[in-house]
Amino acid sequence: MASNAASTLAAWTEAALTFFYPDVCQHCREARATREEGYVCKDCWRNVRFIVAPMCDRCGLPFEGEIGDVFDCANCQEMDLQFTRARSAVAAKAMVLEIIHRWKYQRALWFEPFLSGLLLREAVPALREKKWDLIVPVPLHPLKENEREFNQAEHLAIHLSRAANIPLNTRLVRRVSPTRTQTQLSRNERSANVKGAFAPGTNIEQCRGKRVILIDDVMTTGATTSACAKVLRAAGAADVCVWTVARGLLH
Ligand SMILES: [Zn+2]
Ligand SMILES: [Zn+2]
Repeated sequence: MASNAASTLAAWTEAALTFFYPDVCQHCREARATREEGYVCKDCWRNVRFIVAPMCDRCGLPFEGEIGDVFDCANCQEMDLQFTRARSAVAAKAMVLEIIHRWKYQRALWFEPFLSGLLLREAVPALREKKWDLIVPVPLHPLKENEREFNQAEHLAIHLSRAANIPLNTRLVRRVSPTRTQTQLSRNERSANVKGAFAPGTNIEQCRGKRVILIDDVMTTGATTSACAKVLRAAGAADVCVWTVARGLLH
């Protein structure tokens, strides 16, 4: 639960800091970058694209054009999204995607402050506009969590929970099937792939009447977060919104 997850995170951070990382950008490995800069140098920081208006009000998909233009979001038309709204901090372009990949699959722990920093920078001020009751990370299947040794969404959720002062709850939803990665799938395939992937967790009744923020690292169509939101709404959550670090774009 919250305190458990927090102590796990503290252990991780401590483990990470017992190694010595030189002040070198861990992306280009050329320029200087300190721990405070997230080990990403000023030049590499220029690759970060924060998502700004205009965007789809529902799913947060950025679009080209003037504000005020009529915009039919192709993603929302095809997906039956179960959350009220989704927002992401940055576009999932090459550098950010590579950093997320290294963090998740190669235990590049030193990137965690950089990635959580992107999320916090955008999400914390936005979340202040309304009252939120709970922060819930999208769960990993236990097999995958054992393999990876951590749930990246849970780590992000812990950082956001602390910064925004909104309680964390990791026992509301369970992942009951180890779905294959969505990377190569179309919209329809993504929805089918995560159908039935989530089930109520041991504390599911705690979401009744609550306004919930669901957290993941990357959202593309919203299929995964939507499947997770469906479980929360079925259990009586008053509202479910989504925040992710990055937004992937289907081509
Ligand atoms: Zn660099
Ligand atoms: Zn949309």
